Amino acid sequence: MKPAAVVIVGAGVMGASVAYHLTARGWRDVLVLDRSGGPGRGSTGAAAGGFRAQYATAINVRLSLLAREKFVRFKDEIGSDPGYQPAGYLWLATTPAELDILRAALRVQWDAGLYEAVEVNADDIARLSPAVAPGVALGGTFCPSDGYIAPLRILDGYLAAARRHGARLQWGTNVTGFRVDGSGHIVSVETDGGRIETAYVINAAGAWAAGLAQCAGVPVPVTPLRRQVAATVPCTLLPPQTPMTIFAGDGFHFRVRDGRVLLLWPSPGVSGRPFDIRVDPEWLSAVARMAHQRVPALRTVDVDAAASWAGLYEMSPDKHAIIGPAPGCDNLYLINGSSGHGVMHAPALGALLAELITDARFSSLDATALRPSRFAEGAPNPASGLL
Ligand SMILES: Cc1cc2nc3c(=O)[nH]c(=O)nc-3n(C[C@H](O)[C@H](O)[C@H](O)COP(=O)(O)OP(=O)(O)OC[C@H]3O[C@@H](n4cnc5c(N)ncnc54)[C@H](O)[C@@H]3O)c2cc1C
Repeated sequence: MKPAAVVIVGAGVMGASVAYHLTARGWRDVLVLDRSGGPGRGSTGAAAGGFRAQYATAINVRLSLLAREKFVRFKDEIGSDPGYQPAGYLWLATTPAELDILRAALRVQWDAGLYEAVEVNADDIARLSPAVAPGVALGGTFCPSDGYIAPLRILDGYLAAARRHGARLQWGTNVTGFRVDGSGHIVSVETDGGRIETAYVINAAGAWAAGLAQCAGVPVPVTPLRRQVAATVPCTLLPPQTPMTIFAGDGFHFRVRDGRVLLLWPSPGVSGRPFDIRVDPEWLSAVARMAHQRVPALRTVDVDAAASWAGLYEMSPDKHAIIGPAPGCDNLYLINGSSGHGVMHAPALGALLAELITDARFSSLDATALRPSRFAEGAPNPASGLL
C-alpha cells in the first residue's frame, strides 16, 4: 500500500483531532486508519456530551480551558458548530467530607485560572437545578462556563477539516501489527489490507490502545471500562438548559438531551467480558431507583431500555490522559487514556501532540504531567476526589 509520513490508528475524536492539528501545522501525507465502517463507532459515539473544567488537578483544568477556547472558535477554525452550550456543571455534596473535596478542587481550579467556578449552598442548588429533591444536597460547586458539547459534530468537523488539508482517511482497515527494526523503531504498519511504510505512528485506538501498542512490544496501561447511559422516554419534565447535575459521592448525574433525561452512574454493573457494551437490565433498574429518590419528578417517567446504551471508557491508572512518545519506541506516539474525558479534551490533546511531534516541545501549555513514562517513574498524577 502507498506509504505515509504519519499513520494515525483510530478515527475517533482523538485521531481526528491529531490529524487536523498536524495538517494545520503543514504536515502532508497523513493517513488515518480505522477498522470500523464509519465515524463514531468507538467510544466517541457513546459519549454523553458533557464539558467541564471543574477538575481536581491543574493539568485537567488547563486542558479544559484550552479546549474551551478551541470550542468557542471551532466554527471559524473548523467550519462547523461543536454544540458548546455553557449550561453549567453543578456538583453536589451530601456530606461534609464531600464538600471538603469539592472545596479543595475549587482552590485548584482558581489557581489554574478557572475563576468563575464558585461554591453554592442549598438555596443556590434549588435555583440552579430545581428538580433535585430538597434537602438531599448540603452544598456544592457550580461553574457556569461548563456545560455541553456535541461529540459527533466535533468528530465530523475535525475529520472534514483534516481531509480538506490533505489527510487521507480509510475506514474498514484493521491494524494488525507493526514491523519494528533492531532499535525498536517502527518501519511499517501491518493491516488486513497490506503493509504501509511510515515514519511516525500515532496510537489513537481509544479503549483498544493497549492491544495495539502491544504489537510494537510497548506496554500502554489503558484498560476498557464499561459505562452505561439510561435514557428516559421522551418528556418535557426538565428544561433542556438544566445544568449537568452530578453527585460528588457516587458520580450519579443527569442531563437533558434530545428531549430525554439521561441518567448516568459510574457503576459498571454485571459484565463478564472486558469489552462488553451490552446494557445491563439490573443496572437500568438500579439507576432508575436512584433517580426516583434524588429527582422525584422522574418518578412519573419510565426508562426506555431500547434508547439506553453503553460504551467504553479508556482508563489509565491515574485517570489522566497519556500523551507523548511511547517508552522504548521513539516513533510511536500515544494519545490515550483520557479516562472518560476524551471528547472534551480532544481539541487540546490533539493540538499538544501535533506540537510535540512537530517541534519536540509543548507550546500551548506544559503537558509533561501526562508523559507516558510517569508510571514507570513512579510519578503518576494525584488521585482525584472528582471523577
Ligand atoms: C457512556 C460514555 C459517556 C461518555 N461521556 C463523555 C462526556 O460526557 N464527555 C467527554 O468528554 N467524554 C465522554 N466519554 C468519553 C469519550 O467518549 C472518550 O474519552 C473518547 O471518545 C475517546 O476517544 P478516542 O478517539 O480515543 O476513542 P474512540 O472514539 O473509541 O476511537 C478509537 C478508534 O480506534 C479504532 N481502532 C481501535 N483499534 C484499532 C485497530 N487495531 N485498527 C484500526 N482501528 C482501530 C476504533 O475502531 C475506534 O474507532 C464518554 C464515554 C462513554 C462510554
